[in-house]
Parts: sequence; C-alpha cells; structure tokens
Amino acid sequence: MSEKEDPRKTNFIRQIIDEDLARGKHTRIATRFPPEPNGYLHIGHAKSIVLNFGVARDYQGTCNLRFDDTNPHKENLEYVEAIKEDVHWLGYDWGERLYFASDYFEQLYGFAVELIEQGRAYVCELDAERMREYRGTLTEPGRESPYRERPPAENLDLFARMRAGEFPDGTLTLRARIDMASPNLNLRDPVLYRIRHGVIHHQTGGEWCLYPTYDYTHPISDALEGITHSLCTLEFEDHRPLYDWVIANTSVPCRPRQIEFSRLNLEYTVMSKRRLTQLVDEGLVTGWDDPRMPSIAGLRRRGYTPEAIRTFCERIGVTKADNLVEMAMLESAIREDLDRNAPRAMAVLRPLKLVVESYPEDRTEMLTVPNHPKDVTTGTRALPFSRELYIDRSDFMEEPVKGFKRLTLGGEVRLRHAYVIRCVGVVKDRAGTVVELRCTHDPDTLGKNPTDRKVKGVIHWVSASHAVAAEVRLYDRLFSVPEPGEGGRDFHADLNPDSLQVLTHCLLEPGLTKIAPGNRFQFEREGYFVVDPDSRPGRPVFNRTVTLRDTWAQNLFTIFVSK
Ligand code: ATP
Ligand code: MG
Repeated sequence: MSEKEDPRKTNFIRQIIDEDLARGKHTRIATRFPPEPNGYLHIGHAKSIVLNFGVARDYQGTCNLRFDDTNPHKENLEYVEAIKEDVHWLGYDWGERLYFASDYFEQLYGFAVELIEQGRAYVCELDAERMREYRGTLTEPGRESPYRERPPAENLDLFARMRAGEFPDGTLTLRARIDMASPNLNLRDPVLYRIRHGVIHHQTGGEWCLYPTYDYTHPISDALEGITHSLCTLEFEDHRPLYDWVIANTSVPCRPRQIEFSRLNLEYTVMSKRRLTQLVDEGLVTGWDDPRMPSIAGLRRRGYTPEAIRTFCERIGVTKADNLVEMAMLESAIREDLDRNAPRAMAVLRPLKLVVESYPEDRTEMLTVPNHPKDVTTGTRALPFSRELYIDRSDFMEEPVKGFKRLTLGGEVRLRHAYVIRCVGVVKDRAGTVVELRCTHDPDTLGKNPTDRKVKGVIHWVSASHAVAAEVRLYDRLFSVPEPGEGGRDFHADLNPDSLQVLTHCLLEPGLTKIAPGNRFQFEREGYFVVDPDSRPGRPVFNRTVTLRDTWAQNLFTIFVSK
C-alpha cells in the first residue's frame, strides 16, 4: 500500500486535492508552511508542517517555507533560524523554496496601486479608535469613512507620500473599499497598509515605513508562489472572502484556494505564542527549549523523536472540528518509538546502599546482558557485579504494605540480570532512617530462578564502586489543569509548581559516561531518558522523556478509587 492510500492519512483536504487532480483543475500540487517569525515552533505548528509537507510529498508536489514577516516589531532572526532548524529536524526540506513575505513588498505595493487606480482602495485618515467606531458591530452595519470617496489621483499621491515617510505612525492607512454593511466584519473596508516608523526589519532593514497587513499579504504571496492549496487554521475561515477578494481584484498570476482545518489543542499546556513568549520572558521556564515546553525545541530536548511527533500528527488527523487532544496520545507515540529503539540501561535514581555479605570482597563479575530484550541485533554489554551495590530506595520496605513485591526484611528479590538475594538486616541512622541493607545471595541463581522458590519481584541496581554519578530531571505537566487560562482566568494561576524535580545523586551503570546529548535510553523500570546538553564530562545530565506506562492515568484511577 502506498502512503497515499494509507487510510489513516485520508482527510477532507486530501479528498479535495484528489478531486482537483481528477477533474484537471490542477496538474501539480503546491503548498506552503507560513510561520510568522515571532516565536519558536510548537507542536501545533508540527500538525501544519506534517500536513503541508506531507501533502506535497505524497502528491509529488512542492511545499514552500515562507516566513510571514509583516509585523517586524515582534519578529527577529533568532526565530527565523530556529524555525528553519525545527522544520529540518522534523524531517522536511523546502529545497530552494525559502521565501519571505517581505520579498514581495515591492510587488505588494504595486498591487495596492492597482487597487487604488480601480477605485478599490483609499487612504483613510480615521485613527484607530474612530475606525473602530465606524466599523459597527456584528448586529449593526458600519458607517462609511468620510475619506472613502477620495479620488484615485489623490489617493495615489497620498499613498506615495506615506511610503516616502511623510506621515507619522497611526495617522493614515490604506483601506480596501469593499462594503461597510457586510455581515462579515472582515469585509468592512479592511486596512491593507499601516505606517510603522523606526523599526528595523530583519530582512528589509529600514527600507520601508509602510507595512502590509497579513490579510492583504497572504493571498498575494500565495498567488506569486503558485500555491494551489493554501491550508490554514479555522480562525481564518471568516477571512476567506477577503482572501478571495484580494485574489479577484489584483492581477496576480493564479488563484490559490484557501482551505481551513482545526487547530491542534493539547491538554495541560498552552499553544499561543503570546503565552509561550510570556513563559520564557518571565523566567517561568528556562527558555524556548525547556523540556516542559510544547515547543519543538522543548520536545527535542525532552527526548522526543521527529518520528514520534510525525506519527502523533498523523494519528490526530485533519478535520474541521475543534478539539482538545489528550497528552496521552503524544506520549504513547514516543513510548512506542523508544520501546523499539532505546537501548536499556540501569540507573538508580534514589540510591540506597546494599551489601551482599556472602559475596567476596575482592571480586567483580562481568555479567553479559542484552542491550535490548526484544532486539538481539543490538548486541550485549558488560555489567559489573560486586559485593556493594545500590538499589532504589523505593524498592525496599521494612514493613511492606499489602501487595509489595520488592525487597523486605527477610524477603527475597531478584536483582535484574544477576542473583536472587535475601535481606537479612538493616542499618539505620540516629533518626531511624534505613541507610544500608545487609543481604545474602544465592550463587546458584545467576540468571535463572530455582524451581523450589517463588521470587516475585525483580529490581534494578548498580555496583557501588563502578557506578557513575549523574543528575536526572523528572518532569510533570507544566500546568495542573487540562485547559490553562480557561474562561479568561489568568493562566499563571494554573502553572504546576511541581513540574520539575531534579535528582542530583543518581547512579548509573558504567559505560554510560561517554554519551552525547540527544542519546536516548530506557532506564529499566524508570522510563525513557535522554542526555541533556547541560551534561559535562564525567557528569551526565538526563531528562526523563516519559515514564514506561501512563502513570498519570493510573494516579487518576487511584485518586478516584480512594475517594
Ligand atoms: P499563534 O496564534 O500562537 O501566534 P499563529 O497561528 O499566529 O500562532 P503562525 O506562525 O502564523 O502562528 O503559524 C504558522 C502556521 O501554523 C499557520 O498556517 C497556522 O495556521 C499553523 N498553526 C499555528 N498553530 C497551530 C495549531 N495549534 N494547530 C495547527 N496549526 C497551527
Ligand atoms: Mg499567524
């Protein structure tokens, strides 16, 4: 089955494209991804990227990367570069087709002159407040601007002088002359150009003090690039008549079709760039690449793979229905990927010392263990075993609760890949905290369970003298409610104060020291982890990407049951 026939990928947009091709409306398909460089890309953008580049790939068409850079005061080159990096990282390539809306400023100006000459645009002197008054409301028609009937020659003169910098910000605008009584507010003589002095545009520098609006720029940019299907999110549905008006009233070379689909909303996070920028600027996260952020850079640092993000985007599908996607959907995509591909390792996150009294003091055994239990092609590694070990504090209970299957005083447990041990004593400090376990081992149990004995639990461990110290960062959701800021509430109030837990005294099996940032592992029983760029030689730092199971769902279940 070709990818195009994969039923999972069929959606209403692909159906429209199929029809357009079948009836010969188009012979080639051209899409574009048009980010505004005013922030980093997030998982919502990934949905749009996978759709636009995916359509282009499956139909042997093209997908342009076009920066929609008409708001220079909020945009900068850092964002341009970060966006390019993230699109590449996600696995897509625009080839030679990198564009900026600002590439078209001169042409856009020319089309505006056309509109003025045809009496379809005029220079208006209403300031922002008065323009709002004149605009009317959803229930009342607007009023016509007193400048609406200005003759074209005068408009042309004023428009040229606006460009030349003769008027200050907020004085004159160029407006389309459409219909002040339209039930669609976007058609009530929308602004096409506004004056902005003193901004240095990242592409055009100080060349312009006149900037076109998004609604005017976008259709023309699409047409100049020969885009066939201009895919955007639902909030632009009401703007489509204006999109079509601009295309119909200017001498652009083709007629792209705008099609809207629903935005991705994800539980327990925010997706608006304004809010994400706030989180960064207010220091509520460490940066755009904070592993708790829904940004592509954050997900990458968290340990997500491009494959998992693409799988997620394909699974959620493309529809016109707004919805809120569960975080579990995203997490199961990365779990499946890492379960297949992440080598296994042992790491003790909250170390408790354990001495195997029956094991010789001067002995070290090198155990041969598989790197991946389900994939023998990944080979084996050597794991040292010795008399002094560390296990995780949570794997021992002096007075076990019912159902506890791990180590207890007098009880037995298997050490993963090694022996069955029995706990014969505990050492406590003055406060009564257990600081060391004394155990014996059964030498006949290496890698096998004797038939006369039922050992329920298997726990992980590291050899004390061989282990490598590490820092491990555990993440919880950035927000504690599914829809932060819902109902107009300040979203700050919904931040989860416990979204980051840093464990500074973790111990890893040796051999994991020479690891590069970005390398991923499954730490047995603890989850999937990735090496963080904060790592230093001899001091690795790991981020937990995700737990092994959906523990949040489990926690919810326990809370529910215990109530
Ligand atoms: P914001 O409102 O957060 O600023 P935006 O839509 O203005 O986001 P752009 O950079 O203009 O951000 O978006 C580029 C493209 O990505 C647009 O086509 C937009 O529709 C799409 N996009 C943005 N957010 C989402 C989302 N959550 N789900 C799907 N597509 C999205
Ligand atoms: Mg936008």
